[in-house]
Amino acid sequence: MNADAEPALREEIVAAARAMNAMGINRGTAGNVSARVAGGFLVTPSGMRYEDLGTADVVRVAMDGTAHGVRKPSSEWRFHRDIYRERPEVAAIVHTHAPFATTLACLDRGIPPFHYMIARAGGRDIRCAPYATFGTQELSDHAVRALEGRRACLLAHHGMIAVGASLESTLELAIEVETLAEMYWRALQVGEPELLSDAEMAKVLEKFRTYGQPCRAG
Ligand SMILES: [Zn+2]
Repeated sequence: MNADAEPALREEIVAAARAMNAMGINRGTAGNVSARVAGGFLVTPSGMRYEDLGTADVVRVAMDGTAHGVRKPSSEWRFHRDIYRERPEVAAIVHTHAPFATTLACLDRGIPPFHYMIARAGGRDIRCAPYATFGTQELSDHAVRALEGRRACLLAHHGMIAVGASLESTLELAIEVETLAEMYWRALQVGEPELLSDAEMAKVLEKFRTYGQPCRAG
């Protein structure tokens, strides 16, 4: 990504951060949004109200963890950095404390294949990473592991992470994960839903791959 892309990316980050609260997948100053740039990434600042956020408040963090900006980066910059380091295909990360996803995460429950759209997150389930204190290397290590072969995971007693090739598609995925979490939570109020088999989920994953654009699949 060239340097000319940075001003536009700052705008996109501010818009995505506001959108996650407006769309009900985050509340207050929780959560954070980032996008990859050459040599590092841009991330929302720590503890700022998203409605007060301007493009100059977005912080640039180098891959060695050095921050450049007028604000302190999100306290969760470490897992953003580690995900970009481990996953070269990832260009954007959205982290939220979405109510339904976080409710399941507080029960240490991931989301099993109760619905075929689980495949949108890249595999047969959405894992829940074990709990670790926010901002720590331990949390980052758990998150990277839970995201192996996936584009989303839950974080126990904390929230969720979605990753993707653009901010737009990553925000869409975060909304999809919260929608699935809500449906699963609702189903659990009535009973324990039957799960789709590994063979069926493999078929759906293959169809999504063939379509190329999972978000356009029926
Ligand atoms: Zn968080």
